[in-house]
Amino acid sequence: MEIEVNNCKIKIIEGDITEQSVDAIVNAANPTLMGGGGVDGAIHRKGGSKILEECKQIRATLYPNGLPTGEAVITSGGKLKAKYVIHTVGPIWKGGNSNEAELLSNAYKNSLKIAKSRRLKSIAFPSISTGAYRYPIEKASMVALSTVKEFLEKEDELEEVIFVLFSKKDLEIYEQKAIEIFGLSK
Ligand code: ADP
Repeated sequence: MEIEVNNCKIKIIEGDITEQSVDAIVNAANPTLMGGGGVDGAIHRKGGSKILEECKQIRATLYPNGLPTGEAVITSGGKLKAKYVIHTVGPIWKGGNSNEAELLSNAYKNSLKIAKSRRLKSIAFPSISTGAYRYPIEKASMVALSTVKEFLEKEDELEEVIFVLFSKKDLEIYEQKAIEIFGLSK
């Protein structure tokens, strides 16, 4: 599915984020920035040790206590096709009354802000928080899509935002939500 907002293409696809040829892919990291399972593990495995070295540097300088939820940092892409990796931490789902939506929105917003500040043109997101962090994907997709929509309505430098979903089921949920949020007809 493809949608245009303010001259920026939003694509919603099924795929593997580590295979995307974009300026930056976003990592659903954890506060340690030392790697983990899911997308995080896949990115570090395929990107090689350079990414981890840069993450260690960030921990040693900017964030000795770990990257707070909702914040984002950038490293190079190591051996990946993407030039950069933007690492962000989504919230762990705790039932919905622990500010999860705002924290998830911040994770998308702060990733987009870094992309803008580096003058990047294309960025790919995974479905942050909907794996190990158990955020219900129907709710998370709404936050993801509406946050990106609002950002793009104000900023016109990005050319392409890709949502990369890891299963057909997840893809269908994002597509359905996009139809609602962007007011498209089926
Ligand atoms: P979190 O801890 O933020 O929940 P996870 O990595 O556990 O992060 O999961 C986030 C989402 O990313 C899940 O929907 C998962 O299926 C998906 N995912 C896992 N590996 C990949 C990959 N290589 N490319 C794209 N999405 C992936």
